[in-house]
Amino acid sequence: MDTTFEQVRELALRSVTDVRYPIVKTYTLDALWVLYDRVLRVDPNRPDDPDRDRFLLSKGHGPSAFYAVLAAKGFFPAAWLDGIATLESRLGSHPDATLIPGVEMSAGSLGHGLPLAVGTAHGLRATGRTGSRVFVLVGDAELDEGSNHEAIAYAGALGLANLDVIVADNDSASHGWPGGIASRFEVNGWSAATVDATDHEALYRSFTTAHPDRPHVTVAAYRP
Ligand SMILES: [Mg+2]
Repeated sequence: MDTTFEQVRELALRSVTDVRYPIVKTYTLDALWVLYDRVLRVDPNRPDDPDRDRFLLSKGHGPSAFYAVLAAKGFFPAAWLDGIATLESRLGSHPDATLIPGVEMSAGSLGHGLPLAVGTAHGLRATGRTGSRVFVLVGDAELDEGSNHEAIAYAGALGLANLDVIVADNDSASHGWPGGIASRFEVNGWSAATVDATDHEALYRSFTTAHPDRPHVTVAAYRP
């Protein structure tokens, strides 16, 4: 039976993480669901396939939606969601790539995911695996970290067409300004789209938009 969005939302709400920031339990769920349900080429039976697409969750402090999507897609049993962040659980309040099937990077310290995604995309291109795409999800406030800006400039200069960034924008950045996220990428040679974070068709169009000579960013704006 195919999982529906409502069912995966129930899975996300079932977990007990994200207690400091309750909103992050679900506000990335739409983008993650569209990505895993319709875009990413990943297979829970072959999690190490060298030709798979990669997804990196950089904002690891909000893993409930990610865990729910991985469970819905068969990377681990949904029962794991009931014990999150207990001593017995593999699912921590931040994801650990050494413990959880389908997790590409351990996350926690902000500002690392985008640079790692740039290196991964560059490595795939250098080794001829041009069919694999790399997606990374970062938070809007996370862009305050300077490491992102080196990565954005470098990826633009390289023209990394196999790289897609998703910025979960809930208007939480200390150093942000209206329209500022997309413009930071565009000035470095990226293509960019800003969409409603709950509009699945708009997310899908942006995730599948052609960008043959440059990386692409989707700013998923969430304004409750
Ligand atoms: Mg934010």
